[in-house]
Amino acid sequence: YGALYVVATPIGNLEDLSPRAARVLAEAALVAAEDTRHSGRLLRHLGIERPLLSLHEHNEASRVTRIAAHLTAGEDVALISDAGTPLICDPGFVLVRELRRLGHRVVPVPGPCALVAALSAAGLPTDRFLFRGFLPAKGGARRARLDSLVARDETLVFYESPHRIRDTLADIASCFGERHLVLARELTKTFETFLEGSAATLLETLAADPDQARGEFVVMVAGAPPREGEAVTLEGEALLAALLAEG
Ligand code: SAM
Repeated sequence: YGALYVVATPIGNLEDLSPRAARVLAEAALVAAEDTRHSGRLLRHLGIERPLLSLHEHNEASRVTRIAAHLTAGEDVALISDAGTPLICDPGFVLVRELRRLGHRVVPVPGPCALVAALSAAGLPTDRFLFRGFLPAKGGARRARLDSLVARDETLVFYESPHRIRDTLADIASCFGERHLVLARELTKTFETFLEGSAATLLETLAADPDQARGEFVVMVAGAPPREGEAVTLEGEALLAALLAEG
């Protein structure tokens, strides 16, 4: 039996494609891709010529049988998306779930992922974080989602497009006030930038330099600081532990 390889591809810098990813793509009988024209360019750049099959949210379910037939015939299939790791705000979930249900082998080929790249260089706590993908497009729903997250004490991570970054920052300002944010833009690309400050400060920066509102964004919001009561409890616990240790 063959396997489905879930292959991460660059989020901007083509050097980030791993040698293993290149080999797996070159050896696959078929490459399932979100946008076959876009991925065709990547494969050509790598000097790889493999048959491509489009796989996007509207046809994903109907592709399962076809891909399963390749695997049953002993052929490997690779899954890629337009950028980064498939299934992370990209198609592939239904395919992976169904192939696993049918007993097929699914193998990750890890690599670039915008949220991990952003967190790894932002300087916000990463021991616990909450990734919520894209916020709702409509203002009311977006503010409701943000309101529901205000008390969370993990670092919050969102994906955002250039069309909505200002509106999103304005809504974060109204829900989170002075909370600290890090905005990662154009990761691994020529104009990669990390900006930090409150949402209101960042909005001013974007207004002063509209170039800063271009490109792709990962928005990271510091988690809620511990509340008074919790701090006291923690101190209480530490005191108790010290007393117990002294015996
Ligand atoms: N599968 C991808 C991954 O592994 O990160 C994410 C795909 S999602 C459709 C696209 C979003 O990811 C963009 O709107 C942006 O929020 C984020 N993104 C992708 N590439 C990025 C980059 N180079 N810099 C900053 N954000 C990026």
